[in-house]
Amino acid sequence: MPGFEIFGDEEKKEVTDVLETGVLFRYGFEGTRNGHFKALEFEKKLCEITHAKYSHLCSSGTAALSISLAACGIGAGDEVIVPPFTFVATFEAIINAGAIPVFGEIDETLCLNPDKLEDIITSKTKAVVPVHMCGAMARIDEIKDVCTKKGLILIEDACQSLGATYQKKAIGTFGLAGCFSFDSVKTVTCGEGGGLITDSKTVYEKADQFADHGHDHLGGPDRGADDHPIIGTNFRISELNAAVGLAQLNKLDQILDIQKKNKHAIKDAMADLPEVGFRYLPDAKGDSATFLSFFLPTEARTRQVAKNLADNKVGCAYWYDNNWHYYKKWHHLKEMKRSAKLCVELADDLPDYKNLVLEDSDNIMKKTLSMQIMLSWTQEDIENRIQAIIKSFKG
Ligand SMILES: *Cc1c(COP(=O)(O)O)cnc(C)c1O
Repeated sequence: MPGFEIFGDEEKKEVTDVLETGVLFRYGFEGTRNGHFKALEFEKKLCEITHAKYSHLCSSGTAALSISLAACGIGAGDEVIVPPFTFVATFEAIINAGAIPVFGEIDETLCLNPDKLEDIITSKTKAVVPVHMCGAMARIDEIKDVCTKKGLILIEDACQSLGATYQKKAIGTFGLAGCFSFDSVKTVTCGEGGGLITDSKTVYEKADQFADHGHDHLGGPDRGADDHPIIGTNFRISELNAAVGLAQLNKLDQILDIQKKNKHAIKDAMADLPEVGFRYLPDAKGDSATFLSFFLPTEARTRQVAKNLADNKVGCAYWYDNNWHYYKKWHHLKEMKRSAKLCVELADDLPDYKNLVLEDSDNIMKKTLSMQIMLSWTQEDIENRIQAIIKSFKG
């Protein structure tokens, strides 16, 4: 999964380009930047890869979510449906927008279940933010259908799924906006970074403004001459981060090829294990293959196999117990612990997060393990790993 495994001369070259000019800012300095616009180049490349019309590179995936919510007009009091299996950033961005996260159920895609959406849509629901977890897609066409039918905005959290596709269409391009993370452990890394894509000129312009203090970027060489059509904030990326990311993005095809090859070797070997079922992939060809996720028959057996795998040095993620990725351990959200009063607390009928129970999701996550697929594995590593996995299932 992590692009940092394959840092090389390409990243050094891009960073050196920037350091030689001393211009670390993505805007202006035309006279001294020697023609280098790394953030802009990254955005062009991201559009090429995803076939999105517009993209904006920013400081993090969380920022990309915040910018997208703002640019799509989602704010105070709006309900936004999200899955309970994600990274905390998804609901953080919603809460920080003043909006209210409402949790749906997941299905065997490990992503939001479109069949369970209509039950939780209210007159305040404004958007749905499915999360394409662990490198692969939700049932995104069905989720989109529900959004269209109900007049809801669709924003995809594709932070973990750069390079994934559904029926050959890039994940992230199904909604009004799609968000990616380029943090230090993602498929492509900028060190810290994020990006959003959209086909809407209006959303793009608002995003571009919001992420840079409202700058309309129309003032020419003098930034001070820009107007500020909206109140924004600073979610800018530096040219140094963009430079690392640009080199990485150029390696995306190579990264995906290695991941798919490594994942298939392990998956094929595990297919004979009678206890194992695999995560449902709506389009297996479009999996970016960052993780291999599988199900066991019971919670007890899942915990036992997880322990055996760890003992045999092929540890897997058991998300059900994870502090950051599953709602069970989000006590800070459940108790609305915060550093200052949040807009969301002003809502008259906040969901009862404290007593939230999502039975379908629990039943799936209790029995789910995920193995991260690494780029650096050798053939020998993979063979040893397969032996260790088989051994773990015997115990
Ligand atoms: C990583 C991640 C984010 C946030 O990205 P950062 O760049 O770390 O802010 C958001 N959502 C999901 C699902 C993620 O995995």
